[in-house]
Amino acid sequence: MPTKHESGVIVFDHPLIAHKLATIRDQRSGHRTFRAALSQIAGLMVYEVTRELPMREVDIKTPIMEMRCKVLSGAITIVPVLRAGLGMIDGILEVMPEARVGHLGLARDEKTLEPHAYLNKLPRDLDDGPVILVDPMLATGGSASAALTMLRQAGASDIRMVCLVAAPEGIERLRSDHPDVKVYAAALDERINEHGYIIPGLGDAGDRMYGTVE
Ligand code: URA
Repeated sequence: MPTKHESGVIVFDHPLIAHKLATIRDQRSGHRTFRAALSQIAGLMVYEVTRELPMREVDIKTPIMEMRCKVLSGAITIVPVLRAGLGMIDGILEVMPEARVGHLGLARDEKTLEPHAYLNKLPRDLDDGPVILVDPMLATGGSASAALTMLRQAGASDIRMVCLVAAPEGIERLRSDHPDVKVYAAALDERINEHGYIIPGLGDAGDRMYGTVE
């Protein structure tokens, strides 16, 4: 069962997730192994992340008789933050193939050091259902906070954020900027180092995932 950390973050305490996370953290794992494990963890996490999704009742007929069933209500939208968030999409869509996928691309402005959006492609009726923002690394929380603001501006009201590894700095930032957003993480790490990397972390998630490590 996931546990609620004192920070409010829901942390996954599951042997399968811990095992796959160890693979991802291991510097010997190449991009193919990394990508597969990341996608699998995202698929496992979504089971819990969707626990409280709104449902509605429908009447159906089994081969034997009529009955009332519960189905998910409203359109679910998954939004990866490019580029690393893309690595979590396949695993989630395997479990929820009906979900829609929006895309947010954020890059750090070299002058202001603030994240700026270079891509914003979201469904129009975001408020039709829950929105799940995905990004493997919650480091300073700067881009996650900007992405959540963009989702709100686009009309989303029921928002969750799913990451793989979270640092206390990022958690604090989201708590202050977006206190109503529930955050889920596979692990809470120690802190961010002077280069902006989470420690112990796993390095640059995008580079490791796509084999662009120099
Ligand atoms: N982004 C990454 O990919 N890795 C980190 O450690 C921090 C931010």
